[in-house]
Amino acid sequence: MEIKITKAQNKTTLPEESTLGFGKVFTDHMFIMDYEMGKGWHNARIVPFGYLSIHPASTVLHYGSEIFEGLKAYRTESGEIRLFRPMENIRRMNASADRMCLPKIDENDFLEALTTFVELEKDFVPHSFGTSLYLRPYMFGNDETLGVHTVHKATFMIIASPSGSYYAEGINPVKILIESEDVRAVKGGTGAVKCGGNYAASNRAGEKAAQKGYSQVLWLDGVHRKYIEEVGAMNVMFKINGEIVTPELTGSILPGITRKSCIEVLKKMGYKVSERLISVDELIEALKTGKLEEAWGCGTAAVVSPIGRFYYNDVEYDVNNGQIGEVTQKLYDTLTGIQWGKLSDDFGWIYKIC
Ligand SMILES: *Cc1c(COP(=O)(O)O)cnc(C)c1O
Repeated sequence: MEIKITKAQNKTTLPEESTLGFGKVFTDHMFIMDYEMGKGWHNARIVPFGYLSIHPASTVLHYGSEIFEGLKAYRTESGEIRLFRPMENIRRMNASADRMCLPKIDENDFLEALTTFVELEKDFVPHSFGTSLYLRPYMFGNDETLGVHTVHKATFMIIASPSGSYYAEGINPVKILIESEDVRAVKGGTGAVKCGGNYAASNRAGEKAAQKGYSQVLWLDGVHRKYIEEVGAMNVMFKINGEIVTPELTGSILPGITRKSCIEVLKKMGYKVSERLISVDELIEALKTGKLEEAWGCGTAAVVSPIGRFYYNDVEYDVNNGQIGEVTQKLYDTLTGIQWGKLSDDFGWIYKIC
């Protein structure tokens, strides 16, 4: 694939690393590629970061045709820049495109776009452990008409944001509200797809939880309002009576790459891991009897996020006295160790850029 590069006139530098936060500052450039039915993907280019100009009738503004991915570029102590399992993101984005009637991207072209872009922006990958250059590939329908149909035109982009450590103030277990009104997804819908609309629809529950002092909601399935699905925008795992359990991928749950990696790491460590339906009643029972030993969310941004407390039907239940558990800590150390190059990559998950 030919990628035309137009360099930014005004070069900026990486801000002070302790002030980065998440997704607030961006690098000097962005990757863009256009799609037109009949013509395919074309005009791959890297241009100075800046505003877009789109038609007021653009599909994405009215009908929400949008999908995205999230992954990080990591810098090791020796200065190597690398990605973690990028092919998983590339394949998942194509699966999302399939569900949303957006055009797929050739896997090799996608990887080339990512690597060319990250190499150009490598000075923006921060240095300290836990910090990274967050990469956001996304695609949106861009037809210039209000007709409702499969898109004929689309735009694919990658932007990058140097981001601080998720745990700048240490790993503090979070408080979670079990949501019984709003639902995130139903089987047959878009729950298994990384699309912007899922996020728009889940904001209300998140907002309500925040007002009560909880950081995220635990989602239950949309049909029975009974089976546990995800926590906020992360997958969820429990240690119940010595066994690791996580909701099976029923079609309304996002197939997380961190989830998949946790399962592989845990199995290698010798833990029994079950992917199955877990009802909220089972969870509450395990909380009441002390059998729930640990609970955590997992996703690219946080890696793992220990859960210290659940709120359900006006009752609060503590998990592991509100402390991070042993398995959660081991998972965090192993995954971050591999990502930032402190541990050897026995799984073959690292993709070196430069
Ligand atoms: C992105 C995402 C996850 C986590 O996926 P990772 O590949 O581990 O980052 C989990 N749930 C939802 C809803 C997501 O959007």
